[in-house]
Amino acid sequence: MIVPIRIVDLEKPPALKFPERCVNCDKPMEETLGMTLKHMCKLCAEKERSVARATLIPFLVTGLIFGGIAFMLALFFSPEGTTPQTLTFPFVFGSFIGLIVGIIVGTIGEMIVKTLAIPFYGRLITRRLLTVVSLFSETDELMGVSARFLREKKIAQLEFENEEIAREFIQYNQLETQ
Ligand SMILES: [Zn+2]
Repeated sequence: MIVPIRIVDLEKPPALKFPERCVNCDKPMEETLGMTLKHMCKLCAEKERSVARATLIPFLVTGLIFGGIAFMLALFFSPEGTTPQTLTFPFVFGSFIGLIVGIIVGTIGEMIVKTLAIPFYGRLITRRLLTVVSLFSETDELMGVSARFLREKKIAQLEFENEEIAREFIQYNQLETQ
C-alpha cells in the first residue's frame, strides 16, 4: 500500500508517528535504525543491515570479475600504439571497456540476486534502486517500507509491504488517502 504524505514546508517536515511494531514482520518493535522511518524488531534490523549482501555485494563482485575480464580482452585486442603518444591507448581503451562491462554485468548480477532474495528480504527488495542509480536519487528503502520523496510535488510517498501496518500508520497520522 502506498501512502502519500503532503509536505507543505520543506524546512519543517511533519513528524510522523509509526506503529510500535516492526514495519517488516509485525512483531513488537525493538530497534530504531537511524532515522525515524526505521522501526524494526531485532531480527529484521539484523536482516536490514545484511541487505547489502543482496544488492551492493553482487554488483561489486560480478562487476569486478566481468569488468576485469573485459579489461584484459580489450587490452589484448586493442591496436598497439607505436608512438609515445599512443602507447597508453590500450590501457585507456581497456579501462573504459572494463568499466562499462563491469557496470552492465554488475547490474544484471544484482538484479538476479535481488530476485532470488525475495523470499528472504521481501518483495520490496526489488523496488530498491540499483546500486548504479541509487547515488543520485532521494529515496530511502528498507525491508517492509520504501520511501520516495517527490520534491516538485512536495509529497513523500511511503510504500508499506504490510497492509495492516500501513492502515495503522494512516490512522496514527490522520492522513487522508485517495
Ligand atoms: Zn521484524
